[in-house]
Amino acid sequence: MADTHHDVLDPATGEVVRTVRATTVAEVDAAAARATRAQVQWAAAAPADRARLLRRFAAVVDDHLEELARLEVLEAGHTVGNARWEAGNVRDLLDYAAGGVERLNGRQIPVPGGLNVTILEPLGVVGVIAPWNFPMPIAAWGTAPALAAGNAVLLKPAETTPLTALRLAELALVAGLPEHLFQVLPGAGDVTGNALVEHPGVAKIVFTGSTRVGKSIMATCADRVKRLTLELGGKSPNIVFADADLDAAAAATPMSFLDNSGQDCCARTRILVQASVYDRFLDLLAPAVESVVVGDPSDEKTQMGPLISRTQLERVRGYVPDGATAIRGTAPDGPGFWFPPTVLTDIAPDAPAACEEIFGPVAAVIPFEDEEDAVRLANATEYGLSGSLWTRDVARALRVSRAVRAGNLSVNSHSSVRYWTPFGGYKQSGLGRELGPDALTAFTETKNVFISTEA
Ligand code: NAD
Repeated sequence: MADTHHDVLDPATGEVVRTVRATTVAEVDAAAARATRAQVQWAAAAPADRARLLRRFAAVVDDHLEELARLEVLEAGHTVGNARWEAGNVRDLLDYAAGGVERLNGRQIPVPGGLNVTILEPLGVVGVIAPWNFPMPIAAWGTAPALAAGNAVLLKPAETTPLTALRLAELALVAGLPEHLFQVLPGAGDVTGNALVEHPGVAKIVFTGSTRVGKSIMATCADRVKRLTLELGGKSPNIVFADADLDAAAAATPMSFLDNSGQDCCARTRILVQASVYDRFLDLLAPAVESVVVGDPSDEKTQMGPLISRTQLERVRGYVPDGATAIRGTAPDGPGFWFPPTVLTDIAPDAPAACEEIFGPVAAVIPFEDEEDAVRLANATEYGLSGSLWTRDVARALRVSRAVRAGNLSVNSHSSVRYWTPFGGYKQSGLGRELGPDALTAFTETKNVFISTEA
């Protein structure tokens, strides 16, 4: 793979499916200049017209849903069921954001001697930098509300997964969005991505990726006081209390860390189980993990596909020593980047596999004594993205939900992401929020205007 081009591999076979040209720094510059011009026109258009075009974009995505889903299976190895959900998520986000265009209201605040109003103005050109684990939804989480709020968007997809993003940019034009308003710039993070972060014409960066890169982007943005949203890593707990419906908790646990082969920032990779039911819970969990169907992602019955790349496979292997005590599922042999579902059952809470984000199908199960101990363990991490708790006691559910320092919690389920509810991390899992009713305001500046009635 030369620096000027990136090979896109099928993770299920390891074969090259397409080669994509990387965007140079000079090309980023030219794209930013075109986006700046397009944004001025876009912001001046009537809100109803902008909303209509975004709804049309949603409809065109819907018309191409199966094509987009198959492209995601090909470049990211996602199961076809997940990939369809992901393309549908892009459509829904565009629709939801379109509904916000005409509701982007300022406020009228009572003052003496005049009228005081606030105006929510677009930022200008927004740079969205996306990771490879959910290429389509995460691209849309930034892009849809940014466009709806009157901005232009430059999207840099991950090196390994640029194909769906490139197709979405074509579909935007089919839908009638103005040229250059939404441009996709594939390329290396430290070249194309960094050019966006450093560019004086890019008003805000929305970065989703590793905490390490997020910190370096934050430092670069600081120099220009550039606006920034960060969606970073996680090591989320799944807390199972003795009073929970253990059958339901055990049945739901495998896909809480195996979905997308564990390459999910919200993966519940620390399974905390009350000591009094620890053995019983493991007896229920083992068959549930062993029966997860791992294989060809394009097969409708498959629940878990391959990892994204050989590098990721080696990284995951590094966390699971030969002979580790674990519940293991199965995975195909041969070509492709396969790793079996794994639950480490004899591991210290401070071991690397129990503390660091692995981003693979590996979880650690750790016993706790009581509620206080559970909260202490849940919070004993630099991350704070998601978490689940299982209990039949409503008061405990509320107490623990308040005590766990994470942005997205679910009680008696593992759900974290809905496009109409806010999403984001505490601590080193991120900065700011995406999605939900306030998504558009994250792409605006508030201007306060006082008009004297005494002149
Ligand atoms: P990564 O940080 O390596 O890369 C993410 C993106 O940043 C890629 O597009 C990459 O090219 C780009 N990039 C890399 N270096 C850059 C630089 N110096 N300047 C600008 N851009 C640069 O992350 P990844 O391995 O692609 O994704 C996995 C990570 O993403 C995990 O840590 C995961 O937890 C996190 N993630 C977080 C969320 C969330 O919402 N909090 C969602 C999905 C993934």
